[in-house]
Amino acid sequence: MKYSNPQWDDTILALATPPGIGAIGVIRLSGPKAIAIVDGLFPSKDLSVQATHTAHVGFIKSGPLAIDEVVVTLFKGPKSYTGEDVVEVSGHGSPYVLQQLMDAFIHAGARLARAGEFTQRAFLNGKLDLTQAEAVADLISSNTSASHRNALHNIRGGFSAELKALREQLITFSALIELELDFSQEDVEFADRSQLYNLVTGAIARVSKLAHSFQLGNVIKNGVTVAIIGKPNAGKSTLLNTLLNENRAIVSEIAGTTRDTIEEVLNVDGILFRFIDTAGIREHTADVVENIGVERSLEKMRQADVVLYLFDVNTMPVAELLANKDEFTKNGFRFLLVGNQVDKGDEAAMRDRYAAATPILFISAKEGLHIETLKERLVDMVLQGEINAEDTIVTNARHFHALQQMLNALQDVRQALDAKIPGDLLALDIRRALHYLGEITGEVSNEDLLDYIFSKFCIGK
Ligand code: GDP
Repeated sequence: MKYSNPQWDDTILALATPPGIGAIGVIRLSGPKAIAIVDGLFPSKDLSVQATHTAHVGFIKSGPLAIDEVVVTLFKGPKSYTGEDVVEVSGHGSPYVLQQLMDAFIHAGARLARAGEFTQRAFLNGKLDLTQAEAVADLISSNTSASHRNALHNIRGGFSAELKALREQLITFSALIELELDFSQEDVEFADRSQLYNLVTGAIARVSKLAHSFQLGNVIKNGVTVAIIGKPNAGKSTLLNTLLNENRAIVSEIAGTTRDTIEEVLNVDGILFRFIDTAGIREHTADVVENIGVERSLEKMRQADVVLYLFDVNTMPVAELLANKDEFTKNGFRFLLVGNQVDKGDEAAMRDRYAAATPILFISAKEGLHIETLKERLVDMVLQGEINAEDTIVTNARHFHALQQMLNALQDVRQALDAKIPGDLLALDIRRALHYLGEITGEVSNEDLLDYIFSKFCIGK
């Protein structure tokens, strides 16, 4: 569908640097009048005759009044981020000065950009496909090395390249089959069915892997929630402190004094672990007393991606630990059994004692013993050996849903081939798969979807 924007001819502007005081602040303009608008306020040089990708120092003046001395950088379309003429004006990073500059440009004919409008224009001008555009949003909001790496991979087109190759192959088959329909009287087969079968089978494997990576992608993007569960005095607060490596005293003696709003997040190898209900841990209100089945703790465990069950190896009865373990398994939790306070006794003897409940990780939260192993184990639980720097990981819910629908359609194609159904019906199934594929990269799109995607960007991107 052709995307028509009534305000397509506007020149848009936005602050490209974060609001607030900084050494410099950059205002970006994009659109047919970008150069003319800045030029009109920049007496020192005629910008309209300057080459693209050049920088110019001078004053921006509003009437006789100089607003700021700036550096103007020109990017003439189509060799710019948006594909249009883009001008970046770097001024001094004072919110007041930047506002004055923006007001002057607006007065001269630019308008404020909507969220994501720069990237939207880049997409519409064919500079990026939709997955790349969305990766820009992910990159801006990425806060760990893993999510950063993944967003960059997608901006470079990792994800789209894979889908494009598949799309081309499917289109070829679809065309061949449709060609057969023109010769329907003659009973010819241009499309080699067994080749198509192999292609579809390969595609099913690939697409399921991509769809499957979403779970991991989500983890990379949003982090993993961890519930630390255990009886009172198992050492939960102590462990939390040790993990977060903080010096704030928050062990039981002064429980309740630290109910604060600080988000407790641990970054291990680029994966964010979020500890839920930490106030509860600290106030001992979420302790699992004797019975793991207590609804409140179950609720907390259900909210978590990973349950870290902490127990005191000096007091925990083996039978009770086994019963808890069964309960976790029965509920389908991903859990880690962690025996704490090993510094109080003989570690080897403790391992023997709890042998029936292996695997258990033995630590001392207080002495910081085996804490690194615990962190590694948490990461292993999440990644399960699935991550690889070259892998494409789906982090976007929209892609995930389209991939699932595509998978269904591909399975239908395979079934159709098995059942040797007529070409016209087969062609329909292939078209459906192609449709969902196109939805991911933006070859099939509609205005609502585009508006939705780009509205989630920040202004200035
Ligand atoms: P919580 O009730 O599970 O949060 O337990 P706390 O973290 O408040 O710990 C209870 C008590 O056990 C405190 O006095 C801690 O100092 C102590 N404790 C916690 N972990 C260890 C450990 O690994 N070794 C030793 N010796 N004491 C610990």
